[in-house]
Amino acid sequence: MIEVEVKVRADHSKIRPLLEKIGANKIGVEEQSDTYFSAPYRDFANTDEALRIRSLGGQAVLTYKGPKLDKVSKTREELETPVDEATTAKIFRALGFSEAGAVRKKREIFRAGEVIVCLDAVEGLGEFLEVELDVEDEKDLESSREKLFEFLSQFGVDEKDSIRTSYLEMVLGKKN
Ligand code: ATP
Ligand code: CA
Ligand code: CA
Repeated sequence: MIEVEVKVRADHSKIRPLLEKIGANKIGVEEQSDTYFSAPYRDFANTDEALRIRSLGGQAVLTYKGPKLDKVSKTREELETPVDEATTAKIFRALGFSEAGAVRKKREIFRAGEVIVCLDAVEGLGEFLEVELDVEDEKDLESSREKLFEFLSQFGVDEKDSIRTSYLEMVLGKKN
């Protein structure tokens, strides 16, 4: 699976009425608590990969993300599977993986046609909007990215607003 994703800073109070106007359906709210790991033999900050355990309401998901595939969005391979949080963290530590940092946020999830829209309120960082399309085939990447930017134009957002910095990098940047 490839996630085609665009992230921008956004004032949620301005976005909500627009979501309503276009008939977006709210599909959920999650309190997400993410722990990122790095391998002793490979710094994922340098390789632009990600290894993460996300816990949400008693469940946990393990995610691997590959390097970003273009220069304007956050498009990349994404693999996810349910796990037991404590056991998985113990396995990583046993193998010498270290915690690279943590990100906590409240995510409200909407669906507008095929586009998944997330209103993220990230602890210590503020409010963001992420839009995503999941594609199976690499040949659909460019058209999906274009669809997302076209979708975002309804919110007055354009390509130059796209943020490719991850929440983790922003959180770590704040600490330094
Ligand atoms: P998702 O879209 O999967 O719900 P998210 O929106 O919470 O995730 P993003 O900022 O989109 O978070 O993506 C997580 C990011 O963390 C990835 O872009 C990844 O490159 C980055 N990352 C992972 N590990 C490290 C690390 N060790 N150092 C710096 N950045 C990292
Ligand atoms: Ca995503
Ligand atoms: Ca994201």
